[in-house]
Amino acid sequence: MSSIFSKIVKGEIPSYKIAETKDFYAFLDINPLAKGHTLVIPKKEVDYLFDLKDDEYAGLQLFAKKVALAIKEVIPCTRIGVAVIGLEVPHAHIHLVPINGMGDLNFANPKLIIDAAEMKLISENIAKAFQNYL
Ligand code: 5GP
Repeated sequence: MSSIFSKIVKGEIPSYKIAETKDFYAFLDINPLAKGHTLVIPKKEVDYLFDLKDDEYAGLQLFAKKVALAIKEVIPCTRIGVAVIGLEVPHAHIHLVPINGMGDLNFANPKLIIDAAEMKLISENIAKAFQNYL
């Protein structure tokens, strides 16, 4: 059975898309720790990030770097925090979270409720900024 993220890649489940290449996809986390909290995934369905082949892993990290730079252009923050959790969705992914302090990357924090119009605007703005990194 396809993972929920594979369904997102195929467009079977909607997402607030940030960027896409032949092999990778980036979209807003639906339960964000911060505005602009983004998930970066390989389209290939692999459960655990560190099971990716070296070239796939390196490619994903380079894609994540460009997405992170785009997020930083749009969301006022000190850094883009990077986290790998993977306890909920068995499809490799990297969290990119705008942070201003260490506590902002605590996944036990309450998640933000952001309405659809704002999520759409955030994703469109980051997607536009991403064009600078192609
Ligand atoms: P993890 O597997 O890293 O523990 O957590 C998975 C992340 O995926 C969570 O932050 C959760 O909010 C996010 N997530 C789960 N289902 C969906 C979904 O259908 N759409 C989006 N955009 N994010 C999701």
